[in-house]
Amino acid sequence: MPVASQRLRVTLRGAVQGVGFRPFVYRLATEMSLTGWVLNSSSGLVVEVEGALDRLTVFEQRLDRERPKASVITVHESAWIPAEGSTSFEIHASDSDTSKSVSVLPDLATCDDCRRELFDSSNRRFQYPFTNCTNCGPRYTIVIDIPYDRPNTTMKDFVLCPQCREEYENPANRRFHAQPNACAVCGPKLEGTIADTAEALRRGEIVALKGIGGFQLVVDARQTAAVARLRQRKHREEKPFALMMPSLEMAREYCEISQAEVELLESQAAPIVLLQPKPGTDLAPNVAH
Ligand SMILES: [Zn+2]
Ligand SMILES: [Zn+2]
Repeated sequence: MPVASQRLRVTLRGAVQGVGFRPFVYRLATEMSLTGWVLNSSSGLVVEVEGALDRLTVFEQRLDRERPKASVITVHESAWIPAEGSTSFEIHASDSDTSKSVSVLPDLATCDDCRRELFDSSNRRFQYPFTNCTNCGPRYTIVIDIPYDRPNTTMKDFVLCPQCREEYENPANRRFHAQPNACAVCGPKLEGTIADTAEALRRGEIVALKGIGGFQLVVDARQTAAVARLRQRKHREEKPFALMMPSLEMAREYCEISQAEVELLESQAAPIVLLQPKPGTDLAPNVAH
C-alpha cells in the first residue's frame, strides 16, 4: 500500500532574501525527492513541500540546520495542509502583496570563489570589477523595493546577456537568482582607468570613487597634505578616516590586530574595524587623531 503524502507549509521571516535561500530549498527538496514550491513573498520566504511524513520532518530540520550562512531567521512558522498531488518542485515567481516585513540583507564582501574568478585570466569575469554571486556582493545598496528581485533593484536596466541569464536560471549554479548578476558584456562598466586613478592618488589628489554603495572620497593615506585637504573639504576635523587595505597582511604592517578583530575583518559583512595603529609606519598622522 503506498504511503499517503503529506504537505507542509513553512514560512520564514528575517533576512532570507538575497542569500541563496530559494536555490538552497530547491536543491534540498529535489535531493529528498519532495515536490512543491518555494517563493519569496513580501512577508517572507514560503515553502510548500509534499511527500512522506518522515521525510518532511527531516526536511524541516535540515532547512534550519543547513540554511545559507548569511541568512537570519527571526520567525519560523509551519503548518500541515492538504496534499495536492504535486509532481515536481518549482521555484515560483515572487508575489508582491502589500505587507512588507522582510529584512533586506546588508552588502556582503566579495567571496573567495568570485575573487578567484576575478584574477583568473581564463575566466570570463577576469578583472570585471562588479563580479558577485549569491554568496556575496551588493544587496542593501541596490534595493529599491521589496521583494528582493532584480526588477526591484538598480540593476533592472541591465539586461542579462545569454551566459549570465543561463547562470541566473540554473538552480545548480552559484549565481542562480543572484539579483545583481553581471559581466563585462551586460553589466555596469568601469569608467576611467585604474592606472589613471592610481596616478591621481599618487599626485596627492582627491578621487571620488563610485562604488556599489555610493561615492567614496579617496586619498593616499601616506600623504599628510592630501589627508589635510580632504579633512578641510569634508569639514571633518577630527573624526578618523577609514583605511582601505588590499589584504590582512598589509593591515598587519600598519595595525595591531587581535584574533577577534581578524574574524571581524574576514567576516562576510566585512565591517570597518577600529584598530590600534603601530608606531613608525609611513601612514599620515592626520588619518586618525
Ligand atoms: Zn561571490
Ligand atoms: Zn553578462
